[in-house]
Amino acid sequence: MSNEKVMSISKKRGILYPSFEIYSGVAGFYDYGPIGGLLKNNIMNLWRQYYVLQEGFYEIEAPTVMPRNTLKASGHVDNFTDPMTQCSECKEVYRADHIIEAVIDDDVEGLPDERLTEIIAENNIVCPDCEGKLDDVQSYNLMFKTQIGASGKQIGFMRPETAQGIFIAFKRISRFYKDKLPFGIVQLGKSYRNELSPRQGVIRLREFTQAEAEIFVDPSDKSHKYYKNIEDCELRLFSQNEQLNNKEPINIKVKEAIDSGIVSSEMLIYQIVLASNFLSNIGIPKEAIRFRQHLPDEMAHYAIDCWDAEVKTDQFGWVEIIGIADRTDFDLKSHIAHSKEDLSVFKEYDEPKTVTVTKPSFNMKKFGPTFKGDSPKAKELLENANPDEIKKMFENEGVYKFSIGENEYEIDDSFVTFDTVEEQIKGERFVPHVIEPSYGIDRIIYSTLLHSYTEDISEEGETRAYFKLPAKIAPIKTVVLPLVNKEPLTDIAENIEITLRENGFVTSYDTSGTIGRRYARADEIGVPFAITVDYDSIDDNKVTIRNRDTFEQKRIAINKIPLIINQLIENQINFEDIEE
Ligand SMILES: [Zn+2]
Repeated sequence: MSNEKVMSISKKRGILYPSFEIYSGVAGFYDYGPIGGLLKNNIMNLWRQYYVLQEGFYEIEAPTVMPRNTLKASGHVDNFTDPMTQCSECKEVYRADHIIEAVIDDDVEGLPDERLTEIIAENNIVCPDCEGKLDDVQSYNLMFKTQIGASGKQIGFMRPETAQGIFIAFKRISRFYKDKLPFGIVQLGKSYRNELSPRQGVIRLREFTQAEAEIFVDPSDKSHKYYKNIEDCELRLFSQNEQLNNKEPINIKVKEAIDSGIVSSEMLIYQIVLASNFLSNIGIPKEAIRFRQHLPDEMAHYAIDCWDAEVKTDQFGWVEIIGIADRTDFDLKSHIAHSKEDLSVFKEYDEPKTVTVTKPSFNMKKFGPTFKGDSPKAKELLENANPDEIKKMFENEGVYKFSIGENEYEIDDSFVTFDTVEEQIKGERFVPHVIEPSYGIDRIIYSTLLHSYTEDISEEGETRAYFKLPAKIAPIKTVVLPLVNKEPLTDIAENIEITLRENGFVTSYDTSGTIGRRYARADEIGVPFAITVDYDSIDDNKVTIRNRDTFEQKRIAINKIPLIINQLIENQINFEDIEE
């Protein structure tokens, strides 16, 4: 594992490099180059295989620019902030909690701004660059602000997460699924965070890609239909208990984690297993992954249970790459409160339920003389009032009081009689809870590169450094190499390249330098299979296929190449089992 070497190859070979380089760059922005772009698409498409194909969640696409009122409702306008302090001398800005934690050995994250200002003063903390005095701590909103249209009247923000686009469209989505819980919707795309001063390369980007699923569930039933299938899966969990008692993460079976209450629901742990499978599939070794539970003081107030998939890195320690949370009904209820729209679903009972209800009937003869012009309004108001409350006020105060506009009224029990009746109820309305796996795609790509980076000795006895990427996500699947750059070898090789492309494999073609040199170039960017055309190919219509990881070689018929490459990528056969 080596951050420096990985980033060096990434820049050199067109995987990842800082954006706006010829203008000295801006922290927090990275380009995906020709190879990086392919890798990113492969990882996102693999994600879709899990969530869209396997889980059956449909994908939507909402705008990345959002009007202010939507993000006021979600809480981002008020709470999506970092505590900031600025040096009064050199004007550099810092995260106040980070600058404090670097000096005093204490966790101060989440403390109010005033308290952080006090701590800075109490500990004589100064600017680390110039030792200047630090200004009072202020909340700094992390959203990029913009304006919608020319008038300047409508403020917009670049979205801070893809999730809100799903919550806001919930009514249409729920109708699409015919209100039948549970259902899931996914969105992949860019999100934005105007970080104070990002210093962690691709780990902290100002523009980044998320893949999020929102799974809407019945709050009274968080069981999972396929729980039985995952019961025996083993997970490496770092629960609150281990963290608070300075213990190591534990390996535990899903069933045990649920039965002992470590993970709050089947729905949630199912998502942890899915994340674990996904990370294995992109080549991150099990021992470099742990699922860390949020501590009570770091969890959002509305959440029931949150787990982060963390990956081990040499440069940044354990880094969060996926967050999995039970967010309850917080998001939908916030949007209900601000939009005044009904975002509940109707659940029909298996059998209608019989309930006793109090039904009022009003003595209409008394309405006209008492309420005069307010009569229709009084009737409407009383019909909509809770009959049990009216009854209770009669019992306690003898009258029921209410007002219509400026006029105050009170009625006694001669205005209304109550009957107790039995009613059949077919179902009920409620606001669903949401389980959210949220993937940081850029951090995942970085982790994949970091953990697939390998150094060993090549066939020719030279040191080789390369990305041992699983074939499924490798940017380029095959390289076609004519042994010498001459006809008819080049003709045969070019035809093979065309056929591979027609069959959907991203393929390169290389004629420059020795075969060893060409293997090394392809290895470096993780091409799993090299296909060499030599003089024997002219007569036997066969080529040599070489395995990047083992140097093993097989001789296969030219017309079988696409079939075999596909089987290798999809893990349907092992390289050593290829029939020659
Ligand atoms: Zn300074």
